[in-house]
Amino acid sequence: MILTAKHLIEKAGKHLGLSQQEIDYILKIDHEHVFDIVLDNGSTHKAYRVQHNNSRGPYKGGIRFHPQVDLNEVRALSILMSLKTAAVGLPLGGGKGGVAIDPRSLSETELEQLSRAYVGHLHPHIGPDTDIPAPDVNINSQIIDWMVDEYETITGDKSKASFTGKSIGKGGSFGREAATGRGGMIAIGEYLKLAGKNPSEMTFAIQGVGNVGAFFTKLAETELRARIVAVSDSQRTLVVKDFSNNKDFISLEGLKNRRKGLIDDLANSHVEFLDRDAILELPVDVLVLAALGDTVVKGNANMVKAPIILELANGPIDEDGFDTLTAKGTVIIPDIVANAGGVIVSHLEWLQNKAGESWSEEQVNEKLAEYMVAATREIYEYGKEHNIPLKQAALALAMKRLLESKKAK
Ligand code: GLU
Repeated sequence: MILTAKHLIEKAGKHLGLSQQEIDYILKIDHEHVFDIVLDNGSTHKAYRVQHNNSRGPYKGGIRFHPQVDLNEVRALSILMSLKTAAVGLPLGGGKGGVAIDPRSLSETELEQLSRAYVGHLHPHIGPDTDIPAPDVNINSQIIDWMVDEYETITGDKSKASFTGKSIGKGGSFGREAATGRGGMIAIGEYLKLAGKNPSEMTFAIQGVGNVGAFFTKLAETELRARIVAVSDSQRTLVVKDFSNNKDFISLEGLKNRRKGLIDDLANSHVEFLDRDAILELPVDVLVLAALGDTVVKGNANMVKAPIILELANGPIDEDGFDTLTAKGTVIIPDIVANAGGVIVSHLEWLQNKAGESWSEEQVNEKLAEYMVAATREIYEYGKEHNIPLKQAALALAMKRLLESKKAK
């Protein structure tokens, strides 16, 4: 992922006519914090926080608990965060954190210990005006609540603005949990509108039904009236049988196991199970990638049939995958805009904490929609004007903003 980010940035930089020095500035990472967390059960886990760039505002970005987390991945994700906040016009920088661990292997007590220990190591380097972490893969509001509590105990900061993604009772914002999925739904809805297409006449397949994928699916079904014909989890794909010849669809209303990100509950006589990666090859109109990074790569990009892809995860398509898809004309709505809903509502949460206010869900959703619609239109127009893919358009716009804020400093 780090190489993909680097190469795509270099490509967009060339398009903008940037000097090597300017490209190096965009790739430069400000600080890297790497430490070990030792749990009471004796196990040791590598932990990271990478602070990429704060020229536009405090470092901002999630923390993930996942066995695949390593320094290079966190670096790439931190760069993507700075580009994301710039692409959607937030006054924030970019950072990312993670711990190399499978949280499902931990008891509740161990999970709390891990979360508090992460803050115990990192607290001198983060804070409401310095670096504001948030949820990412496998992190929920309970984990963030433990982290805020630990931060408050150690530093005495009572503002609650040190983290976003808190539960509502602990200073969280209405709409934050659904924000990434909702933002993605708005981005694809706006893109289809601009392209003169009607989502209710289109078939959608969604890879990943964790927090982001599940909220996206529900909202795409209820607000866009999109026809969801396939979803997948970490083990299997569930698809409507013979979906091009009937009007059946999958409804997530029945997905009781959403929190575990599993699709077993949805089985019925209209659907069948295929293997996990079959989702990528289905002849649907829109493929939504809401699982992990680097899932569409050299070996499988050619098999993707959907003409439109929404990158709801961070970095789900690698550089080879991107080149293959672009060569065959696939439209990719890029992650740094498509999944920005989470950080947009994080920003709204932080503003509420700072002002001591609590806004209604309608207010939050309205502001989220304003940001998402504006950013989607902007990359669409820029891409059209310069005849470049949306991904390159989003990167170019974001990079220009990063450089402008550097000059203004
Ligand atoms: N983890 C989310 C992302 O990748 C949200 C980050 C945040 O809210 O700061 O954008």
